[in-house]
Amino acid sequence: MNLWKKNLIDIAPYVAGEQPDKTDFIKLNANENPYPPSPLVTSAINSFDTESLRKYPDANAVPLLKALGEYYGVPYKNVFAGNGSDDVLALCFRAFFNSDKPILYPDITYSFYPVWCHMLNIPYETLPLDDDFNIRPEDYARENGGVVICNPNAPTSIGRGLDFIRMILDENKDSVVIVDEAYVDFGGESALPLLKEYPNLAVVKTFSKSRSLAGLRIGFCIAGDELISALRAAKDSYNSYPLDSVAIAAGCASAADEDYYRSTLEKIIATRTRLTAALREMGFVLPDSSTNFLFASHPEYRAADICGYLKTKDIYVRYFDKPRIDDRLRITIGTDEEIDALISALQEYTSGGLNPLAGR
Ligand SMILES: *Cc1c(COP(=O)(O)O)cnc(C)c1O
Repeated sequence: MNLWKKNLIDIAPYVAGEQPDKTDFIKLNANENPYPPSPLVTSAINSFDTESLRKYPDANAVPLLKALGEYYGVPYKNVFAGNGSDDVLALCFRAFFNSDKPILYPDITYSFYPVWCHMLNIPYETLPLDDDFNIRPEDYARENGGVVICNPNAPTSIGRGLDFIRMILDENKDSVVIVDEAYVDFGGESALPLLKEYPNLAVVKTFSKSRSLAGLRIGFCIAGDELISALRAAKDSYNSYPLDSVAIAAGCASAADEDYYRSTLEKIIATRTRLTAALREMGFVLPDSSTNFLFASHPEYRAADICGYLKTKDIYVRYFDKPRIDDRLRITIGTDEEIDALISALQEYTSGGLNPLAGR
């Protein structure tokens, strides 16, 4: 009876940072940008010709591909766009990872990767970061069906240079290497200059974090001709119109406003420097971040307790109840006012002896 139930998908889905159903709180839990998108995005949306919505969008988002090609100095035929980089990464997994050998990625990284592997039946193996949460490039010198490196890595916030990516590429000429650069604009080093040398490299980026457009869903991949054709084939076998016309117009407007983009990045980086110092002063331990978030532990307090305490103050940060990282908080860089409120709450917590960790 009910035998059909055994044919249903059996998968533990990705869980995103909580989006509480209220407005008056400080949201530092999903690595969203605290600043609004460029004013050019606002005008593009306000002046959008809604009559044009009766037609399908450009199937490949060509106006956006052209804007991105120009921005990054690559031919637009080497750019592929999708509904957020989650969509692009899922298509990359489908298009590039069809080997029987396992794909490789670190044990601590973006937690969507294992979900796609389960969803798409891709075998995988995770390789442990070292004790300082660095990826060991030598670990990736083994047979595999593909490699995924998030650089800067999430949730560790640690960014590595081009030499590091090159080491991984040099060991992996026979598989596709995806570099997920969701956070690279906040101070990481992009692998784009390596594309000319490595036709098996795919660089994936997003408008969600550095361009303040998480709600619009724009992600893209830059890669050589073969990888882009495989991506287009995968996309056209599943959903031939990924980006809607509004997203295409707004994405082009965002890409055109370099000054605004630079100024918000600078503000976030300055706030990050200030919060890093304040946390260390309170005894938190954390690596230097190349992203728009910090990954911090405190020797005397449980991360879960701090997270719960902050929630009572209407400040939301992210806590992962997972091996190796359950002593850490991931804190998104907010506005200066938001971060001031966070610092005060944490100072109160760590100086007041509110909830010292007993017997650890
Ligand atoms: C946020 C994030 C993404 C995806 O973001 P989209 O909003 O889908 O573009 C991809 N990879 C990492 C590591 C991220 O943190």
